[in-house]
Amino acid sequence: MQNQTIIQFFHWYYNEAQNLWTKVVNKANHLKEIGVTAVWLPPAYKSNNAAYDVGYAVYDLFDLGEFDQKGAVNTKYGTKDQYLKAIDALHENGIAAIADIVFNHKAGGDELEKVKVRTVNPDNRTEFTSDVFEIEAWTKFTFPGRQGKYSEFIWDHTCFSGVDWAEDLKETAIYSIQNYLGEGFEQVPSTELGNYDYLMFNDIDYRNQAVIEELKYWGTWLVETTKIDGFRLDAVKHINPEFIIEWLDHLDEKFNRKFFVVAEDWNVVDIEGQLEYIDITAGRTQIFDSLLHHNFYLASHEENQFDMRTIFDKTLVQVKPELAVTFVDNHDSQPLQALESYVDFWFRPLAYAIILLREQGIPCLFFPDLYGGIYDDKDKEGNDVHIELAALPEVETMCKIRSTLAYGLQREHFDHGNCVGWTREGDDEHENSGLAVLMSTGEAGFKSMEMGKKFEGKTFIDALGHCSQEVIVDENGWAEFHCNAGSVSVWVLKTQ
Ligand code: CA
Repeated sequence: MQNQTIIQFFHWYYNEAQNLWTKVVNKANHLKEIGVTAVWLPPAYKSNNAAYDVGYAVYDLFDLGEFDQKGAVNTKYGTKDQYLKAIDALHENGIAAIADIVFNHKAGGDELEKVKVRTVNPDNRTEFTSDVFEIEAWTKFTFPGRQGKYSEFIWDHTCFSGVDWAEDLKETAIYSIQNYLGEGFEQVPSTELGNYDYLMFNDIDYRNQAVIEELKYWGTWLVETTKIDGFRLDAVKHINPEFIIEWLDHLDEKFNRKFFVVAEDWNVVDIEGQLEYIDITAGRTQIFDSLLHHNFYLASHEENQFDMRTIFDKTLVQVKPELAVTFVDNHDSQPLQALESYVDFWFRPLAYAIILLREQGIPCLFFPDLYGGIYDDKDKEGNDVHIELAALPEVETMCKIRSTLAYGLQREHFDHGNCVGWTREGDDEHENSGLAVLMSTGEAGFKSMEMGKKFEGKTFIDALGHCSQEVIVDENGWAEFHCNAGSVSVWVLKTQ
């Protein structure tokens, strides 16, 4: 069995000359060679701002870059044909394709409707702040460019629990829609702001059975059309979890397989919130370990003041390793984005060693760390910002090492606030497997660590090339490994 490794194959500002779906085709073989087993692709369907939108402002789930809607046929990432070719290229290289699924909201309605609403207190959405009144809202989706192909379903105000824009009043507020489904928002996992069902745009209401059936039909259509292998579920803490489970069960039954699923349940505050979600969904999905990301962020900024013995404290990978998808950064935490909490550059190789070379968690690489990235945007003051990020060469090396050598018994040496390490003993299935990792957030470090008796007399070298000396394992299976200041070394068997 090969270790699983995912890559998030996009970032917020992807803007290279070749569109993203073409880039997937061109990189599929490279991804296979470095040991990537699954690729998370961005939302592939038409957004409100077709050719420019990252993909989370969903307009039409059935338009994968096929119809002239919202100003273009293609999405930001290419056409439907190019999307299907990208998935084919991944499959030809034995790599799974993961679709990004946005079920919380829809944006860019085609027609106005008169809708009865009450406003709610934005800081406590369980509290109404007005009587019922009528507004005009963009709640009707007829998809005129698609003309009923694949589905004739028309979305209207009975499909939504809230909107944030009254067209006739030209006013922004959180408007709770009053319809036959009842009053107020649905019960969702997040109780922040009283009830965090409403996040943005037109909030989908899963009390409407017709919506549930339409999205189950869409899921079947998506899998049959694209041959996608798994799902990344966006913003699940704002969505009725019963619907999520029903939708996943429907697809597993329909296709008689177990789809890989990872949910975004963003939480950097407490592990209890994530455990609650796992409880509600009976551990139905993998979950991104945003708490580990947050610890990386803190460690990178507190430098040698951070106690590395606590790097796993209150993280999902510590408490529920079998459900954790670990990552260093994503499109929301990258510079200039909403949740900006970018792990500082010096620490990134250390963080990647932690997610790639240990037994627990399925790691997810971030595109710019492998391929570099250019970010152009405005900062909070409205000034133009241009950031060029270089790829981290260590990531490719460690990714390869993960797939070939990071196997077998794991021995922990987390016994110093600034200098920690671990070893893997390797196994019989993977030739020359086994390794030792040592990292320091302070001065250059060294540590005696146990490799195992079978390595007696064997020579180890730093695969990252940071340390040039050779290390020989003693008769008890131990050796003294080294690393530079603020750095990580990955010691592997010298084979020639
Ligand atoms: Ca919602």
